Parts: sequence; structure tokens; C-alpha cells
Amino acid sequence: MRLILLGPPGAGKGTQAQRLINRYGIVQLSTGEMLRAAVSAQTPVGLKAKDIMAAGGLVPDEIVIGIISDRLDQPDAVKGFILDGFPRTVPQAAALDELLKKKHIKLDAVIELRVNESALLQRVETRVAEMRARGEEVRIDDTPEVLTKRLASYRSMTEPLIHYYSERRKLLTVDGMMTIEHVTREINRILSAIGAVEAKASEKAAKAKSAAKSKAISAKAAEKTAKPARRSVSAPKKAAKASGKAGKPASRVVKKAAKKPSRKVAAGSTTRPAKKAGKTAKKVTKKRAKA
Ligand code: AMP
Repeated sequence: MRLILLGPPGAGKGTQAQRLINRYGIVQLSTGEMLRAAVSAQTPVGLKAKDIMAAGGLVPDEIVIGIISDRLDQPDAVKGFILDGFPRTVPQAAALDELLKKKHIKLDAVIELRVNESALLQRVETRVAEMRARGEEVRIDDTPEVLTKRLASYRSMTEPLIHYYSERRKLLTVDGMMTIEHVTREINRILSAIGAVEAKASEKAAKAKSAAKSKAISAKAAEKTAKPARRSVSAPKKAAKASGKAGKPASRVVKKAAKKPSRKVAAGSTTRPAKKAGKTAKKVTKKRAKA
């Protein structure tokens, strides 16, 4: 699965990306994280980006495009990724289209987390106050003053991407003002709706198919060893024991196959299921004899 998370700073992109990577086993490619790492490591890119980031500006397109291009080539990105914080401008989006085309990668969707700006400022103020109260270090650009600047830059530089991806029929908008849990659920729901989780679903379907196949084979094997047992309530144990000789899968299948009648019996009669099942067994024997 290949996604872009779009939304202003503080919209919850990082939180949702984390949940998506846990669920789908893909990687999060956050240009902000990569740039912060570059700043700490004092690499040439970090040195160029440091002051721009501290002031809440945007790092030049060619720098972030270069970082993303290298990152997409890493083996862990092959299974899928979520781009968080990239693209942030229309030229970056166009460069990404080119990159993906060259690398034969198809983008599944762009998820926009739509939030209300005044609520965002409130969120950041609360978060900063809480972090300070805990004695934690606050990100240099995570202050209400810098956030105001970052929001302005989002509006003028990044918001046009909503139109860009909507025109390309890639945009899915989610209300980012809901609880984290609700946002996650909504994202998962729309991803299923557009078939972005198809690969996983078909994987599951394939597994189910092969399980059903082995179930059928084992059931046949079990029938040979445990034919009479399947017709009585005590069947699960007996059959399981018998088919145990034929190997583990068989015993599992037999347990399942025999479970059903026993459950039916229990539902019809809570008092003496064993006797009823005994009768059923006799009926079956009579029918068989007639036949
Ligand atoms: P973020 O963690 O995504 O909020 O990014 C933190 C800072 O890194 C931003 O305020 C920008 O200065 C810089 N940055 C991150 N991603 C990009 C990008 N795609 N283009 C330009 N600057 C970026």
C-alpha cells in the first residue's frame, strides 16, 4: 500500500501514520523526521535545513525530493509506504509523480486529514504546556508562534495539493477533528472501500482457500479412520484421538467438523445432549441400513 498523508501541522498525520504502519506492515517516510535527523547529524543537508526549519519555512524542493528519491529505493519501502509531510508543494507533487513513474510504483491514495485551524493552535498550546510541565524538550518549531507561520505556509503552498490530487482522483478526505480512534477507523474503512487493502484481503482469501483444501483432504483421511465417531456427541474426542494418528491437521479438522453437530445438540437440548445424539446416531444407522 502506498499512501500520502496530507494535512496541516498538528493534524495528527504522525499518529495516524504510526497506526497504519502497525496495521499494514509498511514504512512511514516523514521528510520532517529525516530532516531533523540530518540536522542532528549535522550533515550538509542538515546544515542547509536547520535555520529554515527553526523559522517554520520550507526547505528547498530539490533537497526534499532528493531525500525521498533515495529513501524510496531502500528495501523496506518495497512493501509499501506512507509519505508524511511530503509532498508539500505542487512542484514536489509533480516531481513525486515523475519519481513514482520512473520507479514503476503506483500510488494508492492521498488521505487528507481535514482540521479546524483554531483547534490546531489550541492543541499545540496544550501539548507544549504539557511537555514543559513534564520537563520534556519542546521541538523548536512546535511553538504557537512558529505554528502560525507553518499554518500560513500550509495554506499557501500545500493546500493547492488538495486540488491537485482531487483532479487525479486520488484524494480521500477524513475529518481529522474526530477522536484518534475514529480517524483511524475511518481511514481503514475508506482504504478497504477503494480496494487499497485488496492485496491483504486476497492474501487472506488465498490462505482460506488453501486451508479449506487441506481441510477437505484431512476430512477424507479422518473419515477413513474415524467414520462412526463423527456421528456421536463424544465424536470430537474420539475422532480427534483416532485422527491423531493421521497427523495434526487432520485432528484439528475433525475437531471442527464434529463440533458442529455437538453444538446443534446442545442448542436443542440443554439437559441430555448425549442421549439425543445417540438417537440421531441410531437414525442414521437405520437410514443407512435401509439404503
Ligand atoms: P514536519 O515534521 O513534517 O512538520 O516538518 C518539519 C519541518 O521540516 C517543516 O516545517 C519544514 O521546515 C521541513 N520540511 C519537512 N518536509 C518538508 C517538505 N516536504 N518540503 C519542505 N520542507 C519540509
